[in-house]
Amino acid sequence: MANGQGQQIFILPEGALRTTGRNAQRSNIMAAKAVAEIVRTTLGPRGMDKMLVDDMGDITITNDGATIVEDMNVEHPAAKMVVEVAKTQDKEVGDGTTTAVVLTGELLSNAEKLLDQGIHSTIIARGYRMAAEKAQKILDEIGTEVKIDDIPTLKKIAMTAMTGKSAEGSKEHLGDICVKAIAQIAERDGSKIKVDLDNVQVEKKQGVSIEDSELVQGVVLDKEIVHSGMPKKIENAKIALVNSALEIHKTETDAEINITSPEQLQAFVSQEEKMLKDMVDYVVSSGANVLLCQKGIEDIPQHYLSKAGVMAARRVKESDMEKLAKATGARIVNNVKELSKEDLGYAKLVEERKISGDEMIFVNGCKNPKAVSILVRGGTEHVVDEAERSVKDALGVVAASIEIGKVVAGGGSIEIELAKRIREYAESIGGREQLAINAFADTLEIIPRTLAESAGMDSIDTLVGLRAKHEAKDGIKYGVNVLEGKIGDMWAKSVIEPLKVKTQAIKSASEAAEMILRIDDVIASSKKSGGGMPPGGMPPGGMGDY
Ligand code: ADP
Ligand code: MG
Repeated sequence: MANGQGQQIFILPEGALRTTGRNAQRSNIMAAKAVAEIVRTTLGPRGMDKMLVDDMGDITITNDGATIVEDMNVEHPAAKMVVEVAKTQDKEVGDGTTTAVVLTGELLSNAEKLLDQGIHSTIIARGYRMAAEKAQKILDEIGTEVKIDDIPTLKKIAMTAMTGKSAEGSKEHLGDICVKAIAQIAERDGSKIKVDLDNVQVEKKQGVSIEDSELVQGVVLDKEIVHSGMPKKIENAKIALVNSALEIHKTETDAEINITSPEQLQAFVSQEEKMLKDMVDYVVSSGANVLLCQKGIEDIPQHYLSKAGVMAARRVKESDMEKLAKATGARIVNNVKELSKEDLGYAKLVEERKISGDEMIFVNGCKNPKAVSILVRGGTEHVVDEAERSVKDALGVVAASIEIGKVVAGGGSIEIELAKRIREYAESIGGREQLAINAFADTLEIIPRTLAESAGMDSIDTLVGLRAKHEAKDGIKYGVNVLEGKIGDMWAKSVIEPLKVKTQAIKSASEAAEMILRIDDVIASSKKSGGGMPPGGMPPGGMGDY
């Protein structure tokens, strides 16, 4: 090329950071491991909680893997990939986020040992891929079938997802609510069962205890009735959903009206009042007795609505309006003028109830019986928040169980069994991949190992004991009975999880680990704060703070 001897060429802007080869791999592995290490102590019923403080000083106390890693705001790109693993798990199943993150960290940690022995990262990645695929097959083989009407098992699954969370004390009650809610919204689609979790609305309200959480047949609105003269309770409700304001719009431009006599003023005022009254007339003549408005309702229409015996609430959230439309069969209209009888929805009862000093509106017995809500209660803000997360986990696992139709025993039992069978599979594979497949098997044992540690048990003894049990007949469901500090049959102890928690966690963890292992070069373009100004002018951000 044209460059002479010893002359440097620059292909990256000044201030760009580049790490290559083993250094890049090491720093990525370290970052991913660091994230996993943070959440590891929260695993299982004896797991600890984390207190997260954001830049505004607001605190969150949680045990939920996805919440922790998301709120940590990690910067390192490889650490961010681990955060993605947790998010995917949360989105796909709603539970098992800690498991997925811990597995990712451990896969990388074991890969590091193989790298140290001189095994190339592509071989490790290939071995991991083979083991992960085998794991999916094995899981499918050993999963136990569960049917939608098997309420006791589904309840055990919901309760397993809530063990170790602060809502644990009420897991019977919450588990019951979650199973009932899912059973109600599940739809048969041929031989498959589909669950659309959007049909279950989870609303939280601070006050009283978690035990007072309830299942509502319909929709709950954190709103009050706008006028004290309106009925607080309406049976056979015909519901209008309107997304424009019952107000007179102020003109955009400054308009001047010259009024020269009291009659003229009166006429002007009456004109405005008439327009507002007309809006109310449209509502009343449609036959509606409940009006739920996404925008504001002025005093005058409030007064007329109240005189007509219509119950009304204003500034209802858009997401709630959509839920109401789905639940009551109403059509959301943009303009009250267009409102007709056909647009109205139906509910058996709409009533305002006082919940811990605040009014809430309950829309019960909706036209669509698939609309249900869970009103989560709890003594303090942090308790309700964590209870809400537990309820969402429980809803997720029950839904995943009936959709896939298969479940497994928890407490690390499934991981031990998988490790055993993957080691057997490794035997059949020659070459260096075998080492990676064995490393994958070892990785899975981090779950029972961590559960044992959290229960104060000796982790080596526990693993040895469990491996022996799994060699014997009928030992397949043996895992760490954390609550009693010994090994035992986890199925008999009602520790049951959906198959999907495991398949998804293994899939995401191995994919992320493979991806991180294949990286041998990290090129970070300069940041405004980090480096200097790139040659050739202003950075893309513009004038900024230079
Ligand atoms: P994740 O975010 O991965 O769901 P958790 O903190 O909920 O993390 O812990 C889940 C692990 O705890 C699973 O492996 C599950 O089988 C196990 N587990 C739950 N309840 C029990 C129990 N009573 N005894 C032993 N293990 C349990
Ligand atoms: Mg869990």
